[in-house]
Amino acid sequence: MPSPTGLTYPPTLDDAPERDRLVQTIKDWTIANGLAVRPPPALVSNDSEGILAMSAPVTLFPSPFPKTCFEEAKAIQTKYNELYARISQDEEYLSGLVQEVAGGDEFIDNLWKVHLRVKEEGYVQSLALGLFRSDYMVHQDGDNLQIKQVEFNTIASSFGGLSGQTSLLHKYLAKTEYPLLKQSLTLSSGNLPPNSSAEGLAAGLAAAFRAYGKSSLGHQTCILFLVQDGERNVFDQRHLEYALQTSDAEPIPVFRLPFSQILAHTTLAATSPGRQLLYRPPNNPSLTFEVAVAYLRAGYGPGDYPSASAWEARYQIERSAAIACPSVLTQLAGMKKVQQVLATPESVSSAPSALRRFVPDDDNSGDAAYQALWRTFTNIYPLDTSAAGQEARRLATDSEECKKYVMKPQREGGGNNFYRTAIPQRLKEIPEAHWGSYILMELITPPPVVNTILRNGKLEHGGVICELGIYGTCLWDQKTGAILRNEESGYLLRTKGDQSEEGGVAAGFGCMDSCLLV
Ligand code: ADP
Ligand code: MG
Ligand code: MG
Repeated sequence: MPSPTGLTYPPTLDDAPERDRLVQTIKDWTIANGLAVRPPPALVSNDSEGILAMSAPVTLFPSPFPKTCFEEAKAIQTKYNELYARISQDEEYLSGLVQEVAGGDEFIDNLWKVHLRVKEEGYVQSLALGLFRSDYMVHQDGDNLQIKQVEFNTIASSFGGLSGQTSLLHKYLAKTEYPLLKQSLTLSSGNLPPNSSAEGLAAGLAAAFRAYGKSSLGHQTCILFLVQDGERNVFDQRHLEYALQTSDAEPIPVFRLPFSQILAHTTLAATSPGRQLLYRPPNNPSLTFEVAVAYLRAGYGPGDYPSASAWEARYQIERSAAIACPSVLTQLAGMKKVQQVLATPESVSSAPSALRRFVPDDDNSGDAAYQALWRTFTNIYPLDTSAAGQEARRLATDSEECKKYVMKPQREGGGNNFYRTAIPQRLKEIPEAHWGSYILMELITPPPVVNTILRNGKLEHGGVICELGIYGTCLWDQKTGAILRNEESGYLLRTKGDQSEEGGVAAGFGCMDSCLLV
């Protein structure tokens, strides 16, 4: 595509010394600024001290992205935050959807059981925090470009830490390196939007921390990051931590605890009815902190629950007084099943449109929000025995029709979906009674973009597909429905080779990118 300066963009970099120089600059900048990940065990045979870091995969140039689409996605985020806060509060509605998928999905069933156990004794914390990310691709229909939502993440929405750094990298290169290329590129800073995703997410955590208030037991309060063992994406999480300490005058104690260690290092206060979550740091167990916010960067998939005790750990967090980010209900609101029912038009479903249930037009101002949200949906079908489900089953099992779809289970973290001709194959493997735990979604086909990815020190040049994520932070009261904070909190651009189905950076398919607005 033509660049804002009229040159071919991005340049192909045929000149080897020019290319090597740019790559070296990026290698150094990424490490110097924490745009980095821990190396995979396969790459490093001997890092027993855990001291090594490597550059996160990035594009050499910011990918062109339609400005109107970018602005639309940002503008709608607070509406999405509110929508998902409302869904999280509607236990009855979620219950119905959980029942529809739980038969074929033990993980969702177990999550629901955690909620039911806590409900029985009564929740002691009514505040809930969402650090959300709504993901989109641009859909091209003739000349018309429209963002279509890929999914809405309500748990462990990642890359907010690295994403701001990627925007800074491309801004830096625009100042120092691109002007030196033979096809001199001057990207005006107006086309490279600011991106304070780390600060935005940290501000959400800080707001919840403050809303929790002081410890009635006289302890210092803290934020606890619950993380995966051997997490490679640790610097992404650290950036949020560092932003927390600069965004607030008073430093907030933050600790990282592997999800597998919850029961070893936390307890619930025994002497009071408050069920305060108490944390004793392993290196100094004589200290006790009261956890104000439990921020889950783990616990989103079955792999984090290898035993019954892992479920007990999740139960401990859920029944405690800590503000969970997310609670089980908020996590379940992020099921692909929820997205499917929201996107199912009234005429297809026997129930009234789910979106209308959560975005009523009772004051005549809701309709703009309803229409704006509706525009971002693409076709998603149930695979149940309803009329819409039967039609979807026909499409999913047809060897030609299936090529337009992706089939998704109720999973997070990448690598779980079935694409095109793999759909009928997969359906053959599972009992028909369990098909309803999947949804069938039309594939979005964005306009072609070319870029070069630097991954593991190697360049990959060619057609790419970009996925935009918009972060949102929302703090609300489950009991009263009051929304105490609702902010759009920065963006993520992830880019993958156009031959790859999945786009996850952590899963090894995608890379970090930033937007050149066109
Ligand atoms: P996860 O929660 O595991 O990230 P996603 O729904 O985001 O699941 O799917 C993973 C990836 O699959 C996305 O990042 C995207 O690259 C691709 N994908 C998912 N849905 C679609 C779709 N409707 N059209 C095109 N690509 C899709
Ligand atoms: Mg995703
Ligand atoms: Mg997801």
